[in-house]
Amino acid sequence: MHFQSGGGWIELICGSMFSGKTEELLRRVRRSEIARRRIQLFKPQVDIRYGREQVASHNGVSRGDAIILESAALLLDQLQSDTEVVAVDEVQFFDDAITTVCQELADRGKRVIAAGLDQDFRGEPFGPIPLLMSLAERVDKLHAICVRCGASATRTQRLIDGLPARYDDPVIFVGGSESYEARCRDCHDVPGRPLIPAPAPLLDYART
Ligand SMILES: [Zn+2]
Repeated sequence: MHFQSGGGWIELICGSMFSGKTEELLRRVRRSEIARRRIQLFKPQVDIRYGREQVASHNGVSRGDAIILESAALLLDQLQSDTEVVAVDEVQFFDDAITTVCQELADRGKRVIAAGLDQDFRGEPFGPIPLLMSLAERVDKLHAICVRCGASATRTQRLIDGLPARYDDPVIFVGGSESYEARCRDCHDVPGRPLIPAPAPLLDYART
């Protein structure tokens, strides 16, 4: 796949939890390695599900050479001069600066493969993903299977003590047991969700 003679571009893999995003990211990384491309894998510091330096999918595919970054801007500091493919997992947890970094990498001729959640548990756009979707040369939106009805799942259901999390529940929840399920639009349940959602990122841009 080549989008320009210089060779750089951005691919975004997005979708709900359990949709296979990390598995697809790692599949593309493996194929690049077979093609003898030099690769670096990055992820934000917030995701410590499987230990600090491992990228793992829910089905057990993993690799242990991810570089953990406290902020998006640090990625360029960690970049090796001969790297040709830059993979970024859990990209939704980075600040908006990740879009500038991805653009810079693509402009330098790198292939950028980013994967992340496109919506938070409320069903609203997640962090820098809307920007990345518009800037990427290629976007793949993966679906999970709704655990309720078996339809294609596009949303992540958050449960606290087995009940749907409310719209205004804190993102970091202390106490109680928290879990997540893949669900379709119809089965996604967010008690207390306003008819008019919180201000969209677009409005912030209009003001600046
Ligand atoms: Zn459903």
